[in-house]
Amino acid sequence: MKAVVYNGPRDVSVEEVPDPKIEKQADVIVKITSTNICGSDLHMYEGRTDFETGRVFGHENLGEVVEVGSAVDKVKVGDMVAIPFNVACGYCKNCERGFTNYCLTMQPKKEWAGAAYGFADMGPYQGGQAEFLRVPYGDFNCLRLGEDARDSKRQNDYVMLADIFPTGYHATEMAGVKPGDQTVIFGAGPVGLMAALSASIRGASRIWVVDRRPDRLGLAESIGAIPVDGSKVDPVEFIKDQTMGLGADNGCECVGYQAHEPDGTEDMNLTLNQLVQAVRFTGKIGVVGVFVPQDPGGKDEFAKNGKAVFDYGWFWFKGQTMGTGQCPVKKYNRLLRDLIVSGKATPSFIVSHELPLEQAPEAYQHFDARDEGWTKVVLKPGMK
Ligand code: NAD
Ligand code: ZN
Repeated sequence: MKAVVYNGPRDVSVEEVPDPKIEKQADVIVKITSTNICGSDLHMYEGRTDFETGRVFGHENLGEVVEVGSAVDKVKVGDMVAIPFNVACGYCKNCERGFTNYCLTMQPKKEWAGAAYGFADMGPYQGGQAEFLRVPYGDFNCLRLGEDARDSKRQNDYVMLADIFPTGYHATEMAGVKPGDQTVIFGAGPVGLMAALSASIRGASRIWVVDRRPDRLGLAESIGAIPVDGSKVDPVEFIKDQTMGLGADNGCECVGYQAHEPDGTEDMNLTLNQLVQAVRFTGKIGVVGVFVPQDPGGKDEFAKNGKAVFDYGWFWFKGQTMGTGQCPVKKYNRLLRDLIVSGKATPSFIVSHELPLEQAPEAYQHFDARDEGWTKVVLKPGMK
């Protein structure tokens, strides 16, 4: 089959690789029909992780089940499924408590937790930017979809259930967003935009989205959020001005460790410290932007070892709390699917490009450069 293979920093190509097979009887093989490029892929694409060359990217996957192992009961050949990016067993101590993001059995390193498809440090699982994908524990890890999911356009909504819609929602859950709240979101990439959509679903009265990319800020505005261009105004002052100096009720970090000044200078502490300042006393902050223990490209010894120069004094003084980490997709994907089915959520509004798998290399280039108009790419392996 064809798949998107990582060759080294900023170098991917579409190559012929072996087809996945049923390896354990609980496995399912899915023919991928929609698979997204994610901001998380970009950390790996840029060589800012230890992702191995020769491996296949892709953790935001949707497709049709084409083969099931003999221990699979619920999922049937022919089902359309959205696949959480977390690979989880369903029976370990963490999965039992709903933390499929920190599954203990699918992560091969004994002292670590959490696994994902095509992801650095998250186990050996191949990614789904390919024609086929092996899904371990298929009954547990597949979310079945309705017949409408056979339609390629409709898939642009459902494929967001694999990662970024639940992840944006998780940011708002950790931030405790409730009806009437005023919420600030840093980052208007796909994740930040899904956090804005989620805050709106949860009844926030005002939502600010901070970024500096006009196209992305425009999408935030299109769903009723207030765009804040951090290259033109100081976002902290802007939000304080609009809240009688008190700050937002809660905040979401949707940028991650490659946060930078508008001039491109990287500073992994930037958005974390701005959130501490922009959120009020006792406010909650949800951090879904990725931070890593080791960053080979970090600008100094602190950054190289994942150590933030964090404004802990103010954070403590303000009595704030912070939630962090990968999203437990299964906690939310069913309820978010049903919001899509009923028409109450249309996450495909962020999709700018649908491309055949073969065009992945140029799609990576444009999305990585955050080129104007490249907000979210859905690769369609079947498309000619
Ligand atoms: P993205 O890179 O497309 O978006 C990031 C946005 O942040 C860009 O639009 C950029 O202009 C903006 N930005 C950079 N510095 C900024 C700053 N100082 N202030 C405001 N905005 C700034 O990526 P994405 O797909 O939206 O993902 C965002 C983050 O979420 C990434 O770190 C990704 O790895 C992470 N992620 C986490 C999870 C999870 O489970 N926790 C899941 C998916 C993605
Ligand atoms: Zn992702």
